[in-house]
Amino acid sequence: MAERYDVLVIGAGPGGYVAAIRAAQLGMSVACVEKRATLGGTCLNVGCIPSKALLDSSELYDQAKSQFEKHGIHAGPLRLDLAAMLDRKDRVVKGLTDGVAFLFKKNKITSYVGAGRLMGEGKVAVKSASAEEIILEAKHIMLATGSEAATLPSLAFDGTAIVSSTEALAFERVPQHLIVVGGGYIGLELGSVWNRLGAKVTVLEFLPRILPLSDGEIAELLHRSLVKQGLTFNLETKVTGAGTQGGQVVVNAHHSGKDVLFQGDKVLVAVGRRPFTKGLGLNEIGVKTDERTGRVVVDESFETNVKGVFAVGDLIDGPMLAHKAEDDGIACVERLAGMKTHVNYDTVPSVVYTWPEVASVGATEEQVKASGREYRVGRFPFSANPRARCMGETEGLVKILADARTDRVLGVHILGPRASDLIAECATVMEFSGSAEDIARICHAHPTLSEAVREAALAVDRRAIHI
Ligand code: FAD
Ligand code: NAD
Repeated sequence: MAERYDVLVIGAGPGGYVAAIRAAQLGMSVACVEKRATLGGTCLNVGCIPSKALLDSSELYDQAKSQFEKHGIHAGPLRLDLAAMLDRKDRVVKGLTDGVAFLFKKNKITSYVGAGRLMGEGKVAVKSASAEEIILEAKHIMLATGSEAATLPSLAFDGTAIVSSTEALAFERVPQHLIVVGGGYIGLELGSVWNRLGAKVTVLEFLPRILPLSDGEIAELLHRSLVKQGLTFNLETKVTGAGTQGGQVVVNAHHSGKDVLFQGDKVLVAVGRRPFTKGLGLNEIGVKTDERTGRVVVDESFETNVKGVFAVGDLIDGPMLAHKAEDDGIACVERLAGMKTHVNYDTVPSVVYTWPEVASVGATEEQVKASGREYRVGRFPFSANPRARCMGETEGLVKILADARTDRVLGVHILGPRASDLIAECATVMEFSGSAEDIARICHAHPTLSEAVREAALAVDRRAIHI
C-alpha cells in the first residue's frame, strides 16, 4: 500500500519546507519530496545564503583595504585566501541546510530524496537517482518547485565561461574581467562581490537604467555609487551573441545602433528567473500555467485548477523572493486548516544587498505618480545621521512617500547602511495602514540608523530636526 499523507510537499525551498513545518505544527501528517541531496532549495543552497556569505566576506575584505585606516587601524599587508572564503560560505550553507533537516525531524516530517511527478488522483511518483520509483498518496499536494535561471538564446550557459549565479558563487579564481549580463539583483550583488575581490566588472543592461522595477531616484544613486566602487555599466546594450576562444569570451552587443564587443574571461548571465516545472507532470494532469510567464495559476487559497493540488513561491505569481515564498507556504497550509490567512504582496519588502544596500517596500515614486494620487515626499540623508557618521557610512538616504491628504505611507525606499534591517519598521507601519506621522511620533533609540527613518517621516511634513 502507498504511504498516504495529509500534505505532500514537492520541493524543499523556503516555500516548501516552511509550509511543511507549519502543516506539522497544525497536526497534519506531512512528507516532503526534494530532488537535491540537501534541504533548503535555491535559497539556502545556491541563492540567498551563499551570496550573502560572499557579500559579507567581500565587504570585510573591502573595508580592510579601504576603510580600516580611516579608523586608525593598520592591519598589515592584506592577502585574499579565496579558497578559505569559499569554504566558509559552504560551511554557512551546510549549517543552515542541516538545520532544516533537524527541524524536519523535530516536526516528524518524512523526507524523500528524489524527483516528484504528479500522477493525478492524489498520487505522486518519486524517483531517486538509485532506487526504483515509489508512489506516495496525499489529500493535499503542494507544488513548491521554485525557479531556475533564465537563459538568452544568444548566450547559452556552458558551465565554465558563460555561467549562471550558481557557478558565479564558486569561481575558484578571481576572474580578470567578469562581464555581467543584466543589471538586476544578481548582477549587482555578484558583480559587487567579484569587483571587491579584484575583478574588473562590466555590466551590460538592456534597459536605460539598473534595477528597472525599483524607485528611479534610489537606483540612480546606487548606480553612481557602484561606478565609484569601480564597476562599469553599459546601459541600453542588447547582447546579440557570444563566442569563446582561448579561455576568453567575446560578447557581441548592440548599442545606439552600433555593434559593440566585450571581451572577458567569465560571463555571468543574470537576466531573471523562470518557474521550474520540468518533469513535474503538470500537463499530464492538466494543471493550468500562465501562457506568458509559465507560472502556475492559483486562486486565493493557492489551489490550482486541479482540486487538491496547490502551488506556492517562485512557481506562482508575485515577487520571486524567499520571504514571499515562506509566507505563501504558511498561508496555504493555514487555509487548509480552516484559517483565513492572506499574504499582502503590496507590503513584501525587497532588498538588494550591495553596499550601500537598497531596501524598499510599497510603491515607487514612479508608480505613485502614474496613479495620479497627490503625494508628499520626505527625504533624510545618512550624512546627517550621527550613527552613520560614527560608522563612516554616510552614503544614501531614506525616502518616504505619503498620501498628501491622509498621510498614509505609500512606499519607503532606502539606500544606505543596513537598509535591509531598517525596512522592517516601514513594512510594519504599512501593513497597519500607518501614516508618516505614526513613524515620526514613535521614539527611536539614539544613536541608531533608524533615526534616519524617523527624520524622513518628519520631513514629509517639512519638520525634520537635524537638517
Ligand atoms: P526554491 O528555493 O527554488 O526551491 C525549490 C526546490 O524544489 C529546489 O530545492 C528544487 O531542487 C526542488 N525541486 C524542483 N523540482 C522538483 C521535483 N520535481 N521534485 C522534487 N524537488 C524538486 N531571495 C530573497 O528573498 N533574498 C535574497 O537575498 C535572495 N538572494 C538570491 C540570490 C541568488 C543567487 C538567487 C538565485 C536567488 C535569490 N533569491 C533571494 C531568490 C530566492 O532564492 C527564491 O525566491 C526562493 O528560493 C524561492 O523559494 P521556493 O521555495 O519557491 O523555491
Ligand atoms: P532581475 O529581474 O533582478 O534582473 C534582470 C535584469 O536583466 C533586468 O535589469 C533586465 O532589464 C536585464 N535584462 C533582461 N534581459 C536582458 C538582456 N537580453 N540583455 C541585458 N540585460 C537584460 O533578475 P536576476 O538578477 O537574474 O535575479 C532573478 C531574481 O532572483 C530576482 O528578480 C529576484 O526575484 C531574485 N533575487 C533576489 C535577490 C534579493 O532578494 N536580494 C538576490 C538575487 C536574486
